[in-house]
Amino acid sequence: MFSCYDAVILGAGASGLFCAAEAIKRGKKIAVLEHKDRPLRKIAVSGGGKCNFTNLAADWKHYLSANPKFAISALNRFPPQQLLDLVAAHKIAVYQKTPGRYFCTNGAQEFMQMLLQKIPQTAIFYNTVFKTIKRRKNLFHLATSRGEMAAPALVIATGGASYPHLGATSDGLVIAKQFGHKIIPAHPALVPFNLSPRQMEPLRCLQGISLPAAVTVGSQTFTDDLLFTHFGLSGPAILQTSLYWVKNQPLTINLLPQTDLFSLLKNQQTGTKNKVGSVLKKFFPERVAAWLLDGDDFWLAEAGTKKIQALSGRINCWQITPSSTAGYRLAEVMAGGVDTAEISSSTMESKKIPGLYFCGEVMDITGQLGGYNIQWAYSSGTAAGKNL
Ligand SMILES: Cc1cc2nc3c(=O)[nH]c(=O)nc-3n(C[C@H](O)[C@H](O)[C@H](O)COP(=O)(O)OP(=O)(O)OC[C@H]3O[C@@H](n4cnc5c(N)ncnc54)[C@H](O)[C@@H]3O)c2cc1C
Repeated sequence: MFSCYDAVILGAGASGLFCAAEAIKRGKKIAVLEHKDRPLRKIAVSGGGKCNFTNLAADWKHYLSANPKFAISALNRFPPQQLLDLVAAHKIAVYQKTPGRYFCTNGAQEFMQMLLQKIPQTAIFYNTVFKTIKRRKNLFHLATSRGEMAAPALVIATGGASYPHLGATSDGLVIAKQFGHKIIPAHPALVPFNLSPRQMEPLRCLQGISLPAAVTVGSQTFTDDLLFTHFGLSGPAILQTSLYWVKNQPLTINLLPQTDLFSLLKNQQTGTKNKVGSVLKKFFPERVAAWLLDGDDFWLAEAGTKKIQALSGRINCWQITPSSTAGYRLAEVMAGGVDTAEISSSTMESKKIPGLYFCGEVMDITGQLGGYNIQWAYSSGTAAGKNL
């Protein structure tokens, strides 16, 4: 004997529950299988607990993928304003950290409640693992720890492999492969960088300091905060560059993005009796200024052009090559995933296996930092849910 559903959804994360909510609204009988004891664990910690759920700028250009234009259809049909209207209809207070980037004023719980209210609790099976999935006579048969389940549609909403302690797995990629889908190699993204012990030595005293910087990797530059950590570099500007970084590639970091330090110092060489340290302390915390001076606090009036050039180069154009990323343990997302070339961009259904759907982070669509990934969970989950 097995239980029959219109669709089985694997994963009670944001994309799986948006998908379930949409299908249930249309009268479908849905089972959501979640291998952990709670839903939406990444949403609970997202945006530092305040859930940065969308960004009005979300268009395909903010997503990385082998096929980034794949995101256009779902983002157009289920755009940020629609998610914002949904949140407003649930009277959830929101604020914008920067224009268009929305967070929940009272924390992520309200956003989670909004989603969970739309799904009968009996439709979500917690602590439930699948053992096998087979497709026979247009039905997916799942052998699970709660018995056999069958449905004409199966949605893979198992997310990416980042933050494994919150329940993340790469099981979705294994299932996709089982059904013949191609995988774009996956790797941790929106992730801090490790520096080597030798690189860390002079930076140890800066642990915990955050300052604005423009960080460039290849042709991409992100201006935001940079954080010195006990293992390397983090902060939003660094996480963004990690999306584009490849092994052994240097980062160019401008620690004073608004100021041409060389011109400023040259202008101060005449008429003032300043040591360079006193100028740097106007821009940087004391520990940073001391690290930049490296024990050589010289009189500006006496300094030659080369000396000023060397110091301002270190500040406006600091080059450093991370040894590695901090890996999935600290990555906000997994980049890569199920190749979208084999998925319908309007319905999220597999082009190879009728009835098989993908939504959310398991697919090779990775948003930049700033609410783009939860927006993608909403747009892709709703697109799939409308078609079940
Ligand atoms: C610390 C952190 C902060 C973040 N902050 C933001 C933010 O502010 N804004 C933003 O846009 N994005 C943010 N993200 C990214 C965002 O949370 C994810 O991209 C989004 O939640 C992905 O949704 P999903 O449904 O695809 O996957 P997930 O939310 O990961 O959900 C997948 C679900 O599937 C379950 N699962 C996995 N394997 C199995 C299995 N074999 N059987 C059954 N269930 C399974 C998991 O337990 C999980 O519940 C953040 C991520 C992290 C880690």
